[in-house]
Amino acid sequence: MPIRYKIAEHVVGIIEALHKAGFETYLVGGAVRDLLLGLEPKDYDLSTAATPEEIRHLFGRRKVMIIGKRFRLAHYYHGHEIVEISTFRRKPDKLEPVITPGKKLVFHDNSYGTAYEDAFRRDFTINAIFYDPVKNQIVDHSGHGMADLEGGVVRMIGDPSERFIEDPVRILRALKLVAQYGFRINIETEKALLEKIPLIANVSHSRLSLELEKILKKTCSDKILKILYEYNFLSYFLPQVHLHWNTPECEDMLRLLELRNARVDNGIYRNSLSLSVATMAFPFVYAAMEKTDDAQLWKYYPRIEKDIRHIVLELFRPHCFPKRLIFSSVMAIQLQTALLRDKSQRRTSRNPRYQHALELQEILKQTGKITVPCAG
Ligand code: ATP
Ligand code: MG
Repeated sequence: MPIRYKIAEHVVGIIEALHKAGFETYLVGGAVRDLLLGLEPKDYDLSTAATPEEIRHLFGRRKVMIIGKRFRLAHYYHGHEIVEISTFRRKPDKLEPVITPGKKLVFHDNSYGTAYEDAFRRDFTINAIFYDPVKNQIVDHSGHGMADLEGGVVRMIGDPSERFIEDPVRILRALKLVAQYGFRINIETEKALLEKIPLIANVSHSRLSLELEKILKKTCSDKILKILYEYNFLSYFLPQVHLHWNTPECEDMLRLLELRNARVDNGIYRNSLSLSVATMAFPFVYAAMEKTDDAQLWKYYPRIEKDIRHIVLELFRPHCFPKRLIFSSVMAIQLQTALLRDKSQRRTSRNPRYQHALELQEILKQTGKITVPCAG
């Protein structure tokens, strides 16, 4: 598996600097997976022997921020991009509580370890391949990573049941890999996954919402939703979408999302999370509005923003998205009305969400299914 894509120069620079300072460091996670599959990595995760404090000391406070309570990580800022640098960890013997007065009890998992130990606390073999771009060396501690990547297999490291119990989000992570690369899940891993799906209900809403945000930023989000439905995971993760799965609205939702994704992949429009949310919600808003006489989407009326927001929130319940994200999505939908009324678009173009609204209109036009009525 030759590596075709060049790794971003600043990432190689970070690895070289850590090496020079005496810290073993590798590129890990999705970037290695993508590079070995001949794809261009979207972002980079590094794993190193240096602690977060040592990383900050090396690069300075302007470049590095330490984040996380349970897992302390260093974020290296390169313009708008963030390179996540984690310290080699081992499986903790027991979780030690961190007590901060007045705050919730958190268990931290910062038992540092070696590169070998770090590979075994990762989830799947294909996610535990380390790559040193300076020496051009692959390190596959689990022993299965490279073969599984070539064979297209998602295989849990260690006992699958135990590892899904330990962190049920790994169920979602496995299904995402299936959708993203068309991989299959190894038999033992799949058996445990199917058994443990209900455990996802124990994961906090805020963590699941972050996972949903990550999915909606991917350009294979339509494929991921389909796989989540096939495995009956969607009923836990997005119950309203699951409930409406076989409706024309949901069909339109998947089609619109697919078009949105293709346009991002082709560089036509930027990868915006709020536009993704608006694209998904649009068919549901449209259907609801069409049902009422006085409140069609294409006619402005005073409560329109409130009504659209309600439908968007309902669709994604129980997830809690940031207020700004919801506002931006609602505006992209609501502005469809303004785009039709304001022919010169002089007034509408001053709205900060105008570009999103125009892009949504382009996507809608492309479907040919949802016809935008002509103004006038
Ligand atoms: P993506 O391309 O979506 O970023 P990724 O595999 O890089 O995929 P990240 O969330 O960035 O996903 O995580 C980076 C790496 O950290 C993973 O490849 C995996 O090795 C490890 N990891 C992340 N989450 C878990 C988890 N819940 N359990 C075990 N290992 C994990
Ligand atoms: Mg990653």
